[in-house]
Amino acid sequence: MFIDSHCHINFPELAARLPEIFSKMAENRVTHALCVCVDMPDFPQVLALAEQYPNVYASVGVHPDYEDTPEPDVDELVRLSEHPKIVGIGETGLDYYRLEGDLEWQRNRFRTHIRASRATGKPLIIHTRSASEDTIRLMREEGAGTDAGGAGGVMHCFTESLQVAEAAMEMGFYISFSGIVTFKNAKDLQEVARAVPLERMLIETDSPYLAPVPYRGKMNEPGLVSHVGQFLADLNGVPVEEVARQTTENFFRLFKISG
Ligand SMILES: [Zn+2]
Ligand SMILES: [Zn+2]
Repeated sequence: MFIDSHCHINFPELAARLPEIFSKMAENRVTHALCVCVDMPDFPQVLALAEQYPNVYASVGVHPDYEDTPEPDVDELVRLSEHPKIVGIGETGLDYYRLEGDLEWQRNRFRTHIRASRATGKPLIIHTRSASEDTIRLMREEGAGTDAGGAGGVMHCFTESLQVAEAAMEMGFYISFSGIVTFKNAKDLQEVARAVPLERMLIETDSPYLAPVPYRGKMNEPGLVSHVGQFLADLNGVPVEEVARQTTENFFRLFKISG
């Protein structure tokens, strides 16, 4: 069995075809999915999915790419994450690729999420793009990692260097690979995926984006995470069952869910 550790099935293109999405998951032995919140106005919908479907979990947080959106404070994140199906804080982090200019607000937002994670013990779901140095720095400064009494978390849709992966793993973080790792031009990332121990690895779709090979360019969905798992198994020369079992265990351990 596989778990999609990061998807956005509340986005309209996926929310409109949930029955199909759940049957595809069943067909591909994808047993659970974590529906990740990207802004506060979407949170009620994200939570509703987690309440409606036993195998869907959810998070609370505001994505670094959302500029003109209500800004949560620590108390609000703490309060909303008290629900038993809210298992993580995010997605949060830094993105200097999509946005330019003075991004101090982005760093402040990230700090708020880390503080909420420390306060609740719920792990962080971290997005980082063209900002790995500051991301790691803020994680250290705010004590995000289990090494500093934080809840740790996951570096989602990982596309950075092995150095960045190692810095995150030293803080107790997991590394999550998406369909990007299956792309032909992702040789460097594939090298990173060979070096990250299975015990620290999660898999995800980040659907509706980034469908894995052989579906590249099509709409992604949680059921396709099995293709990421199969690719990582082939890459590491281990049976796919081993990747499935280990990434599933990692997911339940990180998000403190008793499987
Ligand atoms: Zn992301
Ligand atoms: Zn995402």
